[in-house]
Amino acid sequence: MDYFHYVGDRLYCEEVPLDDLAQTVGTPFYCYSERTLLRHLKAFQQAFAGVPSLICYSVKANSTLAVLDSLVRQGAGLDIVSGGELARGRRVGCPAERIVFSGVGKSEAEIRAALEYGILMFNVESPSELRRIDRIAGQMGIKAPVALRINPDVDPQTHPYISTGMSRNKFGIPHRQAMAIYREAMRLPHVSPIGLDCHIGSQLTTVEPFVEAVRRVRLLVDELRAAGVPLRYLDLGGGLGIPYGRGESPPLPDLYAQAMLKELEGLPLILILEPGRVIVGNAGVLVARVEYVKEGDEKRFVITDAGMNDLMRPALYDAYHSILPLERQFDREERTVDVVGPICETTDFFARDRLLPEFREGELLAVRSAGAYGFSMSSNYNSRPRPPEVMVRGDRFAVVRPRESLDQLMAGESAFPEG
Ligand SMILES: *Cc1c(COP(=O)(O)O)cnc(C)c1O
Repeated sequence: MDYFHYVGDRLYCEEVPLDDLAQTVGTPFYCYSERTLLRHLKAFQQAFAGVPSLICYSVKANSTLAVLDSLVRQGAGLDIVSGGELARGRRVGCPAERIVFSGVGKSEAEIRAALEYGILMFNVESPSELRRIDRIAGQMGIKAPVALRINPDVDPQTHPYISTGMSRNKFGIPHRQAMAIYREAMRLPHVSPIGLDCHIGSQLTTVEPFVEAVRRVRLLVDELRAAGVPLRYLDLGGGLGIPYGRGESPPLPDLYAQAMLKELEGLPLILILEPGRVIVGNAGVLVARVEYVKEGDEKRFVITDAGMNDLMRPALYDAYHSILPLERQFDREERTVDVVGPICETTDFFARDRLLPEFREGELLAVRSAGAYGFSMSSNYNSRPRPPEVMVRGDRFAVVRPRESLDQLMAGESAFPEG
């Protein structure tokens, strides 16, 4: 459920017409609905309200400060995967005790910065990382709170590029090594193993893989507790999918929560959840203008001023995004087209062989469900300045990041110095 909708023939975000925004900021641009963001967060918080729990929004889905600020004010914690994301969390004033740090390749500097801030815990992905954290915490004269990220080896039945919980994936510690590595963590002087973590993948559209993973994890938690590991937190990761408009109907947060809580009954641990996509995905659109319509021999191409550098999910995952005209017309013919960008790559497309209302040159369109892994994955490829981001709150809006200028595009660069 989101707040992008037609009023008459014009597409609105909450109470603001998107074509008005296009006039003000130019195209392409991202637009986020704050009400949608907060609604999704609240749905998650309420679904787990019956048990001690903390919702740590996964920053990598959309790390824009305005998004983080809205969510943190509403009580969200943050799941970070880099020192840069830690800095963003600090910038919006996220309390340290609401931050967890995931990722397979944490650098020394990142670990030190997180320890200095005093985060809730590290989700540790290898024995080497565990020893590195122990050593750095030792130098600082403190003890680092850690969870081990366990790879439960279940198939999340999603796109292979966003599967993380199978034994062939680089993520986590193999299930059967867990006990030995927890024992090592108990012996190390400067880490305290207080949690267990797992995250099996992204854009899951059924609960079964989650249930299978949580069953395996529960057995392991029971074993670890019996062996005297002082676990206090169970982090179930993120991964709940969203409807992209191709008939998916992923479980709502409520149903997902019920399925998880049923498996965890009687377990006296604080639950942590790391939703990303399900919070921001359908809270954002990418608005673009049709530059040209070109009739090929085999296909008709609608060429927009947004490209794969702005939204790379179709290029990266062959992802589906629905596309809407900003001005609806009921008598319009439909055409099968490819909607493509200006980038010099064949993977630069937003839709392929898609039946859409006939778009004319100069017209505006919205690529839906672009709030997650949209701007946060954008780049300057083809030396294109990144688009602005606008946030809407009711009938007001703010440009929360201006369009990049050409000076910003080349900032800090220089030719090799003479002499
Ligand atoms: C990416 C990621 C998430 C968020 O995944 P979504 O599918 O966006 O919910 C959560 N936890 C970890 C460790 C991740 O890498």
